[in-house]
Amino acid sequence: MKKYRVEKLKRLMDTKNIKIENIEINSSRFHIWAGPCAIENEKQFLKTAEFVKKQGASVVRAGFFKLRTSFDTFQGLGEKALSFVQKIKKQLQILTVSEITDPRQIKYLDSVTDIFQVGTRNMYNYELLKELGIYSKPVLLKRAFCAKIKEWMKATDYILKNGNDKIILCERGIRTFETSTRNTLDLNAVAFLKKESPFPVFVDPSHGTGLAQLVSPMSQAAVCAGADGLLIEVHPNPIEALSDKEQALNFSDFKELILKLQPLLKLYNKSL
Ligand code: PEP
Ligand code: MN
Repeated sequence: MKKYRVEKLKRLMDTKNIKIENIEINSSRFHIWAGPCAIENEKQFLKTAEFVKKQGASVVRAGFFKLRTSFDTFQGLGEKALSFVQKIKKQLQILTVSEITDPRQIKYLDSVTDIFQVGTRNMYNYELLKELGIYSKPVLLKRAFCAKIKEWMKATDYILKNGNDKIILCERGIRTFETSTRNTLDLNAVAFLKKESPFPVFVDPSHGTGLAQLVSPMSQAAVCAGADGLLIEVHPNPIEALSDKEQALNFSDFKELILKLQPLLKLYNKSL
């Protein structure tokens, strides 16, 4: 393998367009990928998926396996959610993005997800990245909360190594000395990567701030920084969410966010 292959790719192309079934990530589109932090039950997932799709989300978050800091908190429904998600996916004709935390989950997730998400804790899990490189499914590679941009870029080589170049980067906030917000959303990274990397760049303002009230302003800022899309947590009743309740948008706030983004997207010649 050539050293730092991404350097080579960069010279060969502008930001890579990525086609996922009937959608395309390209310079004239802006994507909202939204849904619950975790799938909690059939009703919650159906309701949320239906709503975010109606508002213009092109992909629905479908979290089966959750990596929680505390062992005794909700860890996700795992395999138990597979059959109803499969049913809902067909019923609503939705595309889904799901976090994969271990290569052994590929056999379960392959039939229910269109995009593999690598979470912040696994950006350095090179064996997982190599394994995802074997498949042709797009990979949403989140930035480790402690990773320099260069380390994040080098991590993409482990996916590219086995032939998969459908990589989407996702800035989700880094750990800094500031503790008023859950993380510090690094929009510098977005503007930087849009110039220096061949991959589309998404922003996750939900984990990036940890506070529902900050999701809208930081989403708008992400558009201006040049992001290709957003990953947003939405829940029918955030107070009752089994994970990340402080940062989940309720339905009316999500709707309002989309309305706020529209004029900005127009300004940048992009559409949902
Ligand atoms: C998530 O998006 O569900 C998630 C756990 O995010 P992160 O890995 O960025 O914490
Ligand atoms: Mn979450």
